[in-house]
Amino acid sequence: MRTPLIAGNWKMNASLASNGALLAGVIGGAASVRAELAVCVPSPYLAQVQAVLGDTSVRWGAQDMSAHEQGAYTGEVSARMLLEFGCSFAIVGHSERRSYHAENDLQVAQKAVLAIQTGLTPIVCVGETLQQRERGLTDEVVASQLGVVLEALGEHVGQMVVAYEPVWAIGTGKTATPEMAQQVHATIRRLIAERHAASATHVRILYGGSMKPDNAAELLAMPDIDGGLIGGASLNAPDFLAIARAA
Ligand code: PEP
Repeated sequence: MRTPLIAGNWKMNASLASNGALLAGVIGGAASVRAELAVCVPSPYLAQVQAVLGDTSVRWGAQDMSAHEQGAYTGEVSARMLLEFGCSFAIVGHSERRSYHAENDLQVAQKAVLAIQTGLTPIVCVGETLQQRERGLTDEVVASQLGVVLEALGEHVGQMVVAYEPVWAIGTGKTATPEMAQQVHATIRRLIAERHAASATHVRILYGGSMKPDNAAELLAMPDIDGGLIGGASLNAPDFLAIARAA
Protein backbone atom coordinates (compact mmCIF):
# COMPACT_ATOMS: atom_id res chain seq x y z
CA MET A 1 0.00 0.00 0.00
CA ARG A 2 1.53 3.32 -1.08
CA THR A 3 0.54 6.38 0.95
CA PRO A 4 -0.24 9.14 -1.55
CA LEU A 5 2.12 12.11 -1.51
CA ILE A 6 0.96 15.56 -2.54
CA ALA A 7 4.02 17.81 -2.81
CA GLY A 8 3.85 21.50 -3.66
CA ASN A 9 6.53 23.11 -5.78
CA TRP A 10 6.34 26.80 -5.03
CA LYS A 11 9.04 27.55 -7.63
CA MET A 12 10.32 31.15 -7.30
CA ASN A 13 7.11 32.43 -5.72
CA ALA A 14 7.34 33.37 -2.06
CA SER A 15 7.79 36.10 0.52
CA LEU A 16 7.97 36.00 4.30
CA ALA A 17 4.49 37.46 4.54
CA SER A 18 2.77 35.37 1.87
CA ASN A 19 4.44 32.16 3.11
CA GLY A 20 2.99 32.72 6.57
CA ALA A 21 -0.55 32.92 5.25
CA LEU A 22 -0.12 30.02 2.82
CA LEU A 23 1.41 27.72 5.45
CA ALA A 24 -1.28 28.61 7.98
CA GLY A 25 -3.90 27.63 5.41
CA VAL A 26 -2.19 24.33 4.65
CA ILE A 27 -1.75 23.47 8.33
CA GLY A 28 -5.38 24.36 8.97
CA GLY A 29 -6.60 21.75 6.50
CA ALA A 30 -3.94 19.09 6.93
CA ALA A 31 -5.96 17.08 9.45
CA SER A 32 -8.69 16.49 6.85
CA VAL A 33 -6.21 14.91 4.42
CA ARG A 34 -5.23 11.24 4.24
CA ALA A 35 -2.31 11.88 1.87
CA GLU A 36 1.13 12.89 3.05
CA LEU A 37 1.63 16.62 2.41
CA ALA A 38 4.86 18.44 1.62
CA VAL A 39 5.93 21.83 0.30
CA CYS A 40 9.14 22.41 -1.66
CA VAL A 41 10.13 26.01 -1.14
CA PRO A 42 12.88 28.41 -2.22
CA SER A 43 15.91 27.75 0.01
CA PRO A 44 16.02 31.19 1.71
CA TYR A 45 12.68 30.38 3.32
CA LEU A 46 13.63 26.98 4.75
CA ALA A 47 14.23 28.37 8.24
CA GLN A 48 10.80 30.00 8.25
CA VAL A 49 9.14 26.85 6.95
CA GLN A 50 10.97 24.70 9.51
CA ALA A 51 9.81 26.98 12.32
CA VAL A 52 6.20 27.02 11.15
CA LEU A 53 5.81 23.37 10.10
CA GLY A 54 8.11 21.80 12.69
CA ASP A 55 5.40 20.33 14.90
CA THR A 56 2.89 19.54 12.18
CA SER A 57 2.36 16.57 9.88
CA VAL A 58 3.30 18.65 6.82
CA ARG A 59 6.82 17.99 5.57
CA TRP A 60 9.04 20.24 3.49
CA GLY A 61 11.86 20.18 1.02
CA ALA A 62 13.93 22.05 -1.54
CA GLN A 63 13.46 22.47 -5.27
CA ASP A 64 17.01 21.49 -6.16
CA MET A 65 20.33 20.66 -4.51
CA SER A 66 23.98 20.53 -5.48
CA ALA A 67 25.47 17.39 -6.99
CA HIS A 68 28.55 18.12 -4.82
CA GLU A 69 28.95 17.49 -1.12
CA GLN A 70 30.65 20.79 -0.27
CA GLY A 71 33.33 23.21 -1.41
CA ALA A 72 33.92 25.90 -4.01
CA TYR A 73 30.55 25.83 -5.77
CA THR A 74 29.37 29.41 -5.58
CA GLY A 75 25.62 29.77 -5.30
CA GLU A 76 24.90 26.12 -4.66
CA VAL A 77 23.10 24.59 -1.69
CA SER A 78 24.20 21.20 -0.39
CA ALA A 79 22.10 18.26 0.70
CA ARG A 80 23.62 18.49 4.18
CA MET A 81 22.48 22.12 4.46
CA LEU A 82 18.96 21.10 3.48
CA LEU A 83 19.01 18.40 6.12
CA GLU A 84 20.07 20.96 8.75
CA PHE A 85 16.90 22.85 7.97
CA GLY A 86 14.77 19.77 8.45
CA CYS A 87 14.07 18.99 4.81
CA SER A 88 12.64 15.59 3.99
CA PHE A 89 12.66 16.04 0.22
CA ALA A 90 14.71 17.55 -2.60
CA ILE A 91 13.26 17.81 -6.09
CA VAL A 92 15.96 16.87 -8.62
CA GLY A 93 15.85 17.10 -12.40
CA HIS A 94 12.83 19.37 -12.68
CA SER A 95 12.35 20.23 -16.35
CA GLU A 96 12.95 23.91 -15.58
CA ARG A 97 16.39 23.00 -14.20
CA ARG A 98 17.04 20.76 -17.19
CA SER A 99 16.07 23.42 -19.74
CA TYR A 100 17.16 26.71 -18.12
CA HIS A 101 20.26 25.37 -16.38
CA ALA A 102 21.25 22.65 -18.83
CA GLU A 103 21.15 19.90 -16.22
CA ASN A 104 21.77 16.48 -17.69
CA ASP A 105 20.73 12.99 -16.66
CA LEU A 106 24.08 12.25 -15.04
CA GLN A 107 23.94 15.32 -12.81
CA VAL A 108 20.36 14.45 -11.87
CA ALA A 109 21.48 10.93 -10.96
CA GLN A 110 24.40 12.28 -8.88
CA LYS A 111 21.99 14.51 -6.99
CA ALA A 112 19.62 11.61 -6.35
CA VAL A 113 22.46 9.47 -4.99
CA LEU A 114 23.78 12.24 -2.77
CA ALA A 115 20.29 13.05 -1.47
CA ILE A 116 19.78 9.46 -0.35
CA GLN A 117 23.27 9.18 1.14
CA THR A 118 22.55 12.34 3.14
CA GLY A 119 19.14 11.24 4.38
CA LEU A 120 16.85 13.14 1.99
CA THR A 121 14.26 11.64 -0.33
CA PRO A 122 14.87 12.81 -3.90
CA ILE A 123 11.81 13.54 -6.01
CA VAL A 124 13.26 12.65 -9.40
CA CYS A 125 11.46 14.40 -12.28
CA VAL A 126 11.23 12.92 -15.75
CA GLY A 127 9.08 13.79 -18.74
CA GLU A 128 8.95 14.43 -22.43
CA THR A 129 8.51 17.63 -24.44
CA LEU A 130 5.54 18.12 -26.75
CA GLN A 131 7.71 17.49 -29.77
CA GLN A 132 8.98 14.22 -28.31
CA ARG A 133 5.42 13.09 -27.53
CA GLU A 134 4.24 13.97 -31.02
CA ARG A 135 7.09 11.91 -32.46
CA GLY A 136 6.07 8.92 -30.32
CA LEU A 137 9.21 9.11 -28.17
CA THR A 138 7.63 9.46 -24.72
CA ASP A 139 8.54 6.02 -23.35
CA GLU A 140 12.02 6.21 -24.83
CA VAL A 141 12.74 9.64 -23.31
CA VAL A 142 11.42 8.68 -19.90
CA ALA A 143 13.33 5.38 -19.98
CA SER A 144 16.58 7.09 -20.82
CA GLN A 145 16.16 9.84 -18.19
CA LEU A 146 15.21 7.34 -15.51
CA GLY A 147 17.68 4.69 -16.61
CA VAL A 148 20.68 6.76 -15.57
CA VAL A 149 19.15 7.32 -12.14
CA LEU A 150 18.25 3.65 -11.71
CA GLU A 151 21.77 2.63 -12.64
CA ALA A 152 23.29 5.09 -10.16
CA LEU A 153 20.95 4.20 -7.29
CA GLY A 154 21.22 0.43 -7.65
CA GLU A 155 19.62 -1.27 -4.66
CA HIS A 156 18.60 2.13 -3.25
CA VAL A 157 15.98 2.83 -5.93
CA GLY A 158 13.27 2.16 -3.36
CA GLN A 159 14.31 5.31 -1.49
CA MET A 160 13.34 7.75 -4.21
CA VAL A 161 10.07 9.25 -5.34
CA VAL A 162 9.59 9.68 -9.09
CA ALA A 163 7.56 12.50 -10.63
CA TYR A 164 6.34 12.07 -14.18
CA GLU A 165 5.96 15.59 -15.49
CA PRO A 166 5.25 15.95 -19.20
CA VAL A 167 7.00 19.23 -20.02
CA TRP A 168 4.11 20.37 -22.23
CA ALA A 169 1.73 20.14 -19.27
CA ILE A 170 3.76 22.16 -16.76
CA GLY A 171 2.22 25.55 -16.07
CA THR A 172 0.29 25.45 -19.34
CA GLY A 173 -3.15 24.40 -18.16
CA LYS A 174 -2.85 21.35 -20.44
CA THR A 175 -3.01 18.10 -18.51
CA ALA A 176 -2.23 14.58 -19.63
CA THR A 177 -5.42 12.55 -19.67
CA PRO A 178 -5.58 10.02 -16.82
CA GLU A 179 -5.04 7.23 -19.38
CA MET A 180 -1.99 8.93 -20.92
CA ALA A 181 -0.46 9.52 -17.51
CA GLN A 182 -1.27 6.00 -16.29
CA GLN A 183 0.43 4.49 -19.33
CA VAL A 184 3.69 6.32 -18.58
CA HIS A 185 3.46 5.62 -14.85
CA ALA A 186 3.06 1.91 -15.59
CA THR A 187 6.14 2.08 -17.83
CA ILE A 188 8.10 3.76 -15.04
CA ARG A 189 7.05 1.10 -12.55
CA ARG A 190 8.06 -1.63 -15.00
CA LEU A 191 11.47 0.00 -15.48
CA ILE A 192 11.98 0.10 -11.72
CA ALA A 193 10.89 -3.56 -11.45
CA GLU A 194 13.42 -4.57 -14.10
CA ARG A 195 16.20 -3.08 -11.97
CA HIS A 196 14.98 -3.91 -8.49
CA ALA A 197 11.79 -5.91 -8.32
CA ALA A 198 11.35 -5.52 -4.56
CA SER A 199 11.18 -1.72 -4.84
CA ALA A 200 8.72 -1.42 -7.69
CA THR A 201 5.60 -1.98 -5.64
CA HIS A 202 6.42 0.68 -3.05
CA VAL A 203 8.14 3.50 -4.99
CA ARG A 204 5.71 6.39 -5.25
CA ILE A 205 5.25 7.82 -8.73
CA LEU A 206 3.70 11.30 -8.75
CA TYR A 207 2.05 13.03 -11.67
CA GLY A 208 2.88 16.70 -12.26
CA GLY A 209 1.58 19.09 -14.88
CA SER A 210 -1.36 21.44 -14.32
CA MET A 211 -2.93 19.23 -11.67
CA LYS A 212 -5.83 21.20 -10.22
CA PRO A 213 -8.82 20.50 -7.94
CA ASP A 214 -11.03 19.80 -10.95
CA ASN A 215 -8.80 17.17 -12.57
CA ALA A 216 -7.01 15.67 -9.56
CA ALA A 217 -9.53 12.98 -8.64
CA GLU A 218 -9.52 11.26 -12.03
CA LEU A 219 -5.72 11.35 -12.28
CA LEU A 220 -5.25 10.11 -8.72
CA ALA A 221 -7.72 7.28 -9.29
CA MET A 222 -5.28 5.63 -11.70
CA PRO A 223 -3.57 2.55 -10.21
CA ASP A 224 0.01 3.75 -10.71
CA ILE A 225 -0.48 7.44 -9.86
CA ASP A 226 0.52 7.77 -6.23
CA GLY A 227 0.19 11.50 -5.76
CA GLY A 228 1.04 14.78 -7.37
CA LEU A 229 3.80 17.34 -7.73
CA ILE A 230 1.81 20.54 -7.78
CA GLY A 231 3.13 23.85 -9.10
CA GLY A 232 0.66 26.70 -9.56
CA ALA A 233 -2.12 25.21 -7.47
CA SER A 234 0.19 24.75 -4.47
CA LEU A 235 0.29 28.53 -4.03
CA ASN A 236 -3.32 28.55 -2.96
CA ALA A 237 -4.03 26.60 0.24
CA PRO A 238 -7.67 25.68 -0.55
CA ASP A 239 -6.68 24.39 -4.02
CA PHE A 240 -3.67 22.47 -2.67
CA LEU A 241 -5.82 20.88 0.03
CA ALA A 242 -8.62 20.08 -2.41
CA ILE A 243 -6.11 18.18 -4.58
CA ALA A 244 -4.82 16.38 -1.48
CA ARG A 245 -8.34 15.42 -0.42
CA ALA A 246 -8.84 13.82 -3.84
CA ALA A 247 -5.91 11.49 -3.17
C1 PEP B 1 5.73 21.71 -11.64
O1 PEP B 1 6.37 22.69 -11.97
O2 PEP B 1 6.29 20.78 -11.04
C2 PEP B 1 4.31 21.68 -11.97
C3 PEP B 1 3.70 20.53 -11.99
O3 PEP B 1 3.71 22.88 -12.26
P1 PEP B 1 2.16 23.15 -12.58
O4 PEP B 1 1.35 22.37 -11.57
O5 PEP B 1 1.98 24.63 -12.41
O6 PEP B 1 1.91 22.68 -13.97
